[in-house]
Amino acid sequence: MRRGACPSLPEPMPTGDGLLARLQPLAPLTLDQIAGLARLAAELGNGIVEVTARGKLQLRGLTPGTAPRLPEAVAALGIDVPQGFPVEVGALAGLDPTAHFDPRPLARAISDGAAGLVPRLAPKASVVVDGGGLLRLGGLKADIAVGAGAGGRVRITLAGVPLGEASAQATGDVVLALLESLVARGNAARMPELLAGEGIEPLRRRFGLAAPVPARDEGVDPVGRHALLQGTFALGVGLEFGQVTAATLARLADAAAEAGARHAEPAAGRALLLVGLTPEAAAGLKVEAASLGFIIDPADPRRRVHACAGQPACAAARIDTHALAATLAPLLEGRDLHVSGCPKGCAHPAKAALTIVGLDEGAGLVVEGTPRDVPARLVPATRLREAVQDLLQKDETLMKDLA
Ligand code: SF4
Repeated sequence: MRRGACPSLPEPMPTGDGLLARLQPLAPLTLDQIAGLARLAAELGNGIVEVTARGKLQLRGLTPGTAPRLPEAVAALGIDVPQGFPVEVGALAGLDPTAHFDPRPLARAISDGAAGLVPRLAPKASVVVDGGGLLRLGGLKADIAVGAGAGGRVRITLAGVPLGEASAQATGDVVLALLESLVARGNAARMPELLAGEGIEPLRRRFGLAAPVPARDEGVDPVGRHALLQGTFALGVGLEFGQVTAATLARLADAAAEAGARHAEPAAGRALLLVGLTPEAAAGLKVEAASLGFIIDPADPRRRVHACAGQPACAAARIDTHALAATLAPLLEGRDLHVSGCPKGCAHPAKAALTIVGLDEGAGLVVEGTPRDVPARLVPATRLREAVQDLLQKDETLMKDLA
């Protein structure tokens, strides 16, 4: 696997519990396809399926013997994965009556236009196209993020820095030109480097764009019921720590099919959307999903707890993230807690009220930051509970930040 590349179907990534394969289906999955993926997770992997913070599906615990069979097995289920440059869109793209625009045609144009650049682009270079509406992708890190702007225009943001707003037609060309500029800086270049080298104002002048007025970009939690076009509904269910067993996923697929759902969509924020339900069917399926252990309420405190695979599943992990998250979450009383096995922070790209990060020298406690920030305290993992309690009681800064 290339250094820094994301795991994919043909190039799974070695982790502590075997090989991990990631897929981002091009189209919504039928419930038969979801059941088929659950079967493959059990047959070829260790039976754990994940939906990531970015809404991608992952199968864990593959072996060098089983992993090569996965791409063909996924194709046999009729699941298409992007062949060119992958552009991310929201889970309700094309279905959300409150969206400002359908992001799929623009995403497809960028994906096709950038296909030839893939070998020369940094492996993790990312473009997100967010049509606005219910579910937003604004919280995701992206080299280039495209979203709804004012007056039907489209806003372009570079590594979190607003570039400007352009017509939908012009946006595709601007994005492709920016990707070309990244390529010109070498095959490891990311947007922060381009911004540092060229400066935001010269980039605005180059594309004839003005600085946009600041805008809040907030959607709703994917967990819960969402009204769709044509009078149907989607039910979003959350996965605790972004994981589910193959057997439970298969049972959810059965229940969703019985409820009349048409398809399922993995959604950013570790959730699955079951799409095409009547209100009555959504209510029944919600009860069923809760009994299977899925999170059905966006206010469930587990939605505010983020933990990556951790030990022993990830070789880079220095702490058992799931066990620690379960122990520490009640202390945070519903505020954001992020437990990360190492500074990479796979589970949660944004800041959290309290982040616990596994380091070679112990567990770091970061207040209002990310696992990459300098910890306020460093303690042995075995003393973490007492240290968090102590921090919550004594640290005035933390108490102020959490208030
Ligand atoms: S954050 Fe680190 S420990 Fe956790 S899954 Fe990612 S690489 Fe592994």
